[in-house]
Amino acid sequence: MTDQDSGVVPPEGRDFIRQIIDADVATGRHGGRVVTRFPPEPNGFLHIGHAKSILLNFGIAHEFGGRCHLRFDDTNPTTEEHEYVEAIRADVQWLGFDWGEHLYHAADYFDRMYEYAEILIDKGRAYVDSQTEEAIRAGRGTVTVAGTESPFRNRTITENLDLFRRMRAGEFGDGEHVLRARIDMGSPNMLMRDPILYRIRKAEHYRTGDAWCIYPLYDYAHCLEDAIEGVTHSLCTLEFANNRELYDWILDELGFEEPRPRQYEFARGVVDYTVMSKRKLLLLVREGRVTGWDDPRMPTLAGFRRRGVPPSAILAFWKMVGVARSDSRVDIGKLEYSVRDDLNGTSPRVLAVLDPLRVVLTDWPEGKVRHLDAPYFPHDVPREGSRTLPFSRELFIDRTDFAEDPPAGFRRLVPGGEVRLRYGCVIRCEEVIRDADGRVTELRCSHDPDTWGGGTPEGRKVKGTIQWVSAEHGVPCEVRLYDRLFSVADPEAEAAQQEEEGDFRDYLNSSSLRVVTGAIIEPSVKQDATDTRYQFERLGYFWRDPVDGSKEELVFNRIVTLRDAWSARAAGAVVDPLPLTARAVGSVGVPQIAGAARGSTGALTTEGSEPEREGRAPEWPSEVIDRADALVARYGFGDLDARILSRSPELVDLFEQTTALLIERLGRSSDDPATAATVVNWIINDLPPVLGGRDLTQLPFGAGELAGLLALLETGVVSSRGAGVVLETLASEGGDPVEIVARLQLAQVSDRDALGAIVAGILEANPDKVKGYRDGRTGLMGFFMGQVMHRTEGRADPELARELLEKRLG
Ligand code: ATP
Ligand code: MG
Repeated sequence: MTDQDSGVVPPEGRDFIRQIIDADVATGRHGGRVVTRFPPEPNGFLHIGHAKSILLNFGIAHEFGGRCHLRFDDTNPTTEEHEYVEAIRADVQWLGFDWGEHLYHAADYFDRMYEYAEILIDKGRAYVDSQTEEAIRAGRGTVTVAGTESPFRNRTITENLDLFRRMRAGEFGDGEHVLRARIDMGSPNMLMRDPILYRIRKAEHYRTGDAWCIYPLYDYAHCLEDAIEGVTHSLCTLEFANNRELYDWILDELGFEEPRPRQYEFARGVVDYTVMSKRKLLLLVREGRVTGWDDPRMPTLAGFRRRGVPPSAILAFWKMVGVARSDSRVDIGKLEYSVRDDLNGTSPRVLAVLDPLRVVLTDWPEGKVRHLDAPYFPHDVPREGSRTLPFSRELFIDRTDFAEDPPAGFRRLVPGGEVRLRYGCVIRCEEVIRDADGRVTELRCSHDPDTWGGGTPEGRKVKGTIQWVSAEHGVPCEVRLYDRLFSVADPEAEAAQQEEEGDFRDYLNSSSLRVVTGAIIEPSVKQDATDTRYQFERLGYFWRDPVDGSKEELVFNRIVTLRDAWSARAAGAVVDPLPLTARAVGSVGVPQIAGAARGSTGALTTEGSEPEREGRAPEWPSEVIDRADALVARYGFGDLDARILSRSPELVDLFEQTTALLIERLGRSSDDPATAATVVNWIINDLPPVLGGRDLTQLPFGAGELAGLLALLETGVVSSRGAGVVLETLASEGGDPVEIVARLQLAQVSDRDALGAIVAGILEANPDKVKGYRDGRTGLMGFFMGQVMHRTEGRADPELARELLEKRLG
């Protein structure tokens, strides 16, 4: 029995596919070789789901010292095009994978596939059926009723060979005959009821032209492609589980001997608020519902690339989701989380105003410009990098940062009120100017020269800080704000539920694109490289659209918002900051810990919820803002993080105690911003899902344990995934993080000496294999890697293990 059937729960960090390969490598099946393939059909652009398969196949090949083929599964002449081949290659490379010399096309095997078909006929294992395709389908029977044999099933071998050769020679028209396997019309597996192997299609193939007029079907072709290429592990998605029997039948009948390729199935990656099918995406392109395959709203890799999503974020996303054996839909919020997480560390912060409102500083001399030094990474203070911001008499602020009739808790500019300009000084609104229609066109303000550089005179409190751009120096630009392509999580299911058969296209989000034409951005961006991904402070992450715009006319794409606005909306948080537990249930913007039982799409009641309006941020009670401001001043993390934390004094306490303990344990300087950022992240993102409705006082652990856990994470003892498991365990039963790590064996083996000793032991125990490797059988690297993984129960740091093996073997 293989692991595939045993239902064994894999240890953390080692999915069931890798376990199967570990075992094969350990037992020497395929001589330790690992060869995988990524086999797209070139009938469209790759989507985010394909990235899961790419990561799995190329990732495994890399980890086991094997190789991964890029193979175009181009056996269908009517849907395939060269354009798609090029696009797919570019996308795989963009994700960072390299197939080396192993680029293949299934069409290149048509000759061999044909020869194999004659062998099957010769063996009496295939026959030419001359029924119509409808009759064949009807003869298949149903799940409960056996099929009926075709009247042509018992043709002689000679007759079958003759007909098949004439099919190939083009003597018949489409549909006149097919070649079928002769298996078992009563098989419980419908796919084994004499499946069709070849079909007549008088169509031009993008690669073989008109050389062929019969084409093999997927089930027949795929296993042969794998066998011809020497693939060891053929990984496909779960919907092919029933096809495995046929895969094995064909290879066995044709005499491919062990070790021959085997097929293993894993769960398809399906992301909410979009559709994952090239065919459906093609409809959107053809009908002009998007601007093309690379429209930044599309779930295609080309779309993500153009939008500005870094490939590393996509890989991190699929790593976080993991590889499992049962299908599930994935919150798009997790993908957005990964994108934010990636960009947060790398994106310089700059100032931009989307809806400019002119501010004139009446007490500032005309023509005077002050150059302010502003850090690019204000959240990460020791980090280098800054630019100058010109400050002048006329500025733009965002219209949404001014309110004549402010709602409760509004912390920005009001008539007669004050606000701080980011990196600048405090201004006061003295006068509001309007046009004939009563619309506010300008604010006359004064500035306070005692407040440069963050100072605020005694006894005065200025609560809000807003972004601005000098009117004289700012650069106008177009900004494209993207939102989800569909307004419901599962458009296909939604359509299927309608009484009159609906269509997934009925659920396109009509506000998935908003173009802002009059935005103004600070001048520094104009000089900068075009491919910088910026954070526009308080607005989101942006980069220049690589297709539209020019050096003179800047066009920016919003890559992702700063926070998950959808979940806030869904939880009704627009006016009321989210209570901690509601966030835990309703949020799609937080990473999920090892499948924590958080409602997936069920908790998201987005129906009827208005798409986000820019600037309609939640309004917060003033005591929350006060607490948050104090935290920002002391620890330097983001306003919003601070506010979420400040919703409850208990959370602030937990944060402060944990930070102090962690700083002490790690011997860092007091109020270290990086440490504080780690703690706040865990408290607001990772803690809520494990609370399960309890409040903090009911938790069986406190700051001491949390600091202990984070110390393990920060020192690399556990991965963040492992830390998630520890947190879950703490939340359910309490305990000591160190003890939990030991008991659940969560420690990463990334210690050079420890791993070195394991490697040495393995080499010592396998002198023949070592000799074989040194004699040039480098494929044995897979065997050695498998052994390392085996001995460490999958917890070895693979990069380090490889490096150590290569050093000792080389
Ligand atoms: P689509 O319906 O989008 O065309 P497909 O499965 O027909 O999908 P292929 O080009 O045949 O697309 O897929 C290439 C490889 O990618 C296959 O091995 C397939 O199993 C895998 N794959 C396709 N979609 C997903 C997905 N959503 N998640 C994981 N792997 C996928
Ligand atoms: Mg397909």
